[in-house]
Amino acid sequence: MDPLDKLRLLGPATCYEPAEEVDPLGRPAPAPAGLSADLSGCIYYAAMPGGRRIALLKTLLTSACERDCLYCAFRSGRDAPRATFTPDELARLFLQLHERGIAEGIFLSSAILGGGPHTQDHLIATAEILRRRYGFQGYIHLKIMPGADRDQVAATMRLANRVSVNLEAPNERRLSALAPHKQFTDELLRRLRWIEEIRRELPGPAPSSTTQFVVGAAGESDLELLATTAFVYRQFRVARAYFQAFRPVPETPLEAHPPTPPLREHRLYQASFLLRDYGFVVEELPFGPEGNLPLEVDPKVAWAREHLAEAPVEVNRAGREMLLRVPGIGPVGADRIIAARRRGWLRDLRDLRALGIAADRAAPFILLNGRRPARQLSLW
Ligand code: SF4
Repeated sequence: MDPLDKLRLLGPATCYEPAEEVDPLGRPAPAPAGLSADLSGCIYYAAMPGGRRIALLKTLLTSACERDCLYCAFRSGRDAPRATFTPDELARLFLQLHERGIAEGIFLSSAILGGGPHTQDHLIATAEILRRRYGFQGYIHLKIMPGADRDQVAATMRLANRVSVNLEAPNERRLSALAPHKQFTDELLRRLRWIEEIRRELPGPAPSSTTQFVVGAAGESDLELLATTAFVYRQFRVARAYFQAFRPVPETPLEAHPPTPPLREHRLYQASFLLRDYGFVVEELPFGPEGNLPLEVDPKVAWAREHLAEAPVEVNRAGREMLLRVPGIGPVGADRIIAARRRGWLRDLRDLRALGIAADRAAPFILLNGRRPARQLSLW
């Protein structure tokens, strides 16, 4: 199979691995000149820190997996097309795409072939060829394989801008229902800890780290997912947790398991941002009796209805921490409010709108100059 055919097989396979803040390109990505292949499903727009967007090539190194995770399209024994890049082959192909302006960065993950450490060696080798042989200075995101050793994690971090470990489930018990041969603490969580330890040792800028959960296939609650999310944010400075709503794959042991509503994934993202950026702790989130977030309402709005509806926040006096509790006010908006207050009182919703704040969302939960905003009165 030629390298482009491999890419067309292995690139779209990363649809199971959310990474960066990506959007599909929205148009077919052209193949390098002289080669006929459409690279849709392989190239995404990815938001970088600072807001820059780059075209990111996403691919697996191999889809030939020796593990048998119950939900996975690439589990061993399943009749699925398989392909494997050599590090040289993938590095050369990426460089062709890069030189033609088609891909500016690469996200590289893999199934496990020959053990986690062996697979990690191949991921490292690919990035080394790009960095050292071809002098590529751009963005590289590398996956850390289950069972990769500490030196490999360190080597990966010296090459990558971002590294990630897929926890997949929030704890050992839930992981065993998804991936009976993976060990949550020994194979996965420990590597997130190593990443944080190594990050502290590395001179200069160190790569960020992320993780990913499969949602809804193991009977786990949102509380379990978000408690683990909060833990890895706090203990291991994970930059972001990604949530992937479970979708059953034919001819896998979980093919009859119902798919997870995408709205549950969305609520988990909203709640995880509250934990990461808004000063919330897990215990404050509005879980129902089963430990799940309500689907019908944004978790921040649910919290505010309970806590702020009768005790609205005076926008002209509240501290940043309290402003962040108000629906419609995010970290940027809170900073703008604080800066604007130095210039004078904020008197009505137009003043908030002028600061880019979703004033109508905030209105039921605020006071402006001691009074509920006019629009809010009509809402009540
Ligand atoms: S390790 Fe599990 S989840 Fe990853 S590719 Fe193999 S079977 Fe799929």
